[in-house]
Amino acid sequence: MVFKGNTDTNPNADPIHSLYLLTVTKEYRSSLVTYYVFRCYCCRLLICLFHCSNMPTVYSMPHLFHICSDKIRLMKFLCDSNLINRRRRCLHRNCRRYMCLIRDRSSADHFRFRCPKCKSLQSVRKGSFFEQTRLTIPQALYITCCWACKVPVKSASFMSNVCDRSVSLWYAFLREKCSESLMTTPNYSFGGPGVVVQIDESLVAKRKYNVGHLVQPQWVFGLYDTSTKLGHIQLVDDRSAGTLIPIIQRCVRPGTTIFSDQWSAYRGLQSLGYVHHTVNHSQNFIDPNTGTCTNAIEAYWSRVKRNIKLHWLSRRDQLPLRIDEFLWRDRLPTRKYCEAFNEMLRLMAHH
Ligand SMILES: [Zn+2]
Repeated sequence: MVFKGNTDTNPNADPIHSLYLLTVTKEYRSSLVTYYVFRCYCCRLLICLFHCSNMPTVYSMPHLFHICSDKIRLMKFLCDSNLINRRRRCLHRNCRRYMCLIRDRSSADHFRFRCPKCKSLQSVRKGSFFEQTRLTIPQALYITCCWACKVPVKSASFMSNVCDRSVSLWYAFLREKCSESLMTTPNYSFGGPGVVVQIDESLVAKRKYNVGHLVQPQWVFGLYDTSTKLGHIQLVDDRSAGTLIPIIQRCVRPGTTIFSDQWSAYRGLQSLGYVHHTVNHSQNFIDPNTGTCTNAIEAYWSRVKRNIKLHWLSRRDQLPLRIDEFLWRDRLPTRKYCEAFNEMLRLMAHH
């Protein structure tokens, strides 16, 4: 979503703000209320849009157990959070009536939709994120909660009483949701006039303990916006100018000040409308004349590697999804597990 700021009051400000939605839960008259708030990527401006008291938030794992412990309470939660669409029409061509939610103990989910006129039945999962799995809905929610808390697959398997394979399959679904969410983020770019963006490339695959087979080296390109404290990382085939320059042009706004090392691929940046400073790492880490350094991106790398290290080498095919998961979590305003879980439920609801 793009918000047009008031250009009259501050003519120097960039009038276009790219906003992302977040939910804020606050106590109001001794009950918890969820607000929908838009926050700007570049200036962190907060705009409160509306509050919605019926969008439920899960506060903890015991709270989730409590919700799932009762079939009616669970169904109310699923409907309130839009994980299951309560308003649906009968699919019969000449009928098209709104269907009713009915209790049906013969169904695995204990509920079904029934057409009041032609009496046809429909699974509650139809059209929802749960349609693609044979897990029970509480199991799927427990595994999602485990994923939000970064619980490894084997532990999550024990906690949810689901086999390893199903857990890792569900984890992969959730990571794909993260990728989708990132791809639909409007105006995904960094920097701007006067803002410093640090860029660097890194080789990620190394042999484990110097034994075993030689792993193919994999280049990763990264950039880090020092004002918003947000970054971007991407797998690349090589680190030539032909590969890296288009990524920079796509992700970094013109006029941005770019700090990098003296790698030759970055030489043309000045002519592309960027202010480019380099630091010679063989001499010093901070250029004494310009103050150029790449400390922030180095710190970002170590954070990326710490978060993805378990799967960095073993599951190469999972690497792009893992990176997207990291980027998605990094964009959550508080980066708390609870927030990751509720945001994921929100993504699942808009399936
Ligand atoms: Zn009908």
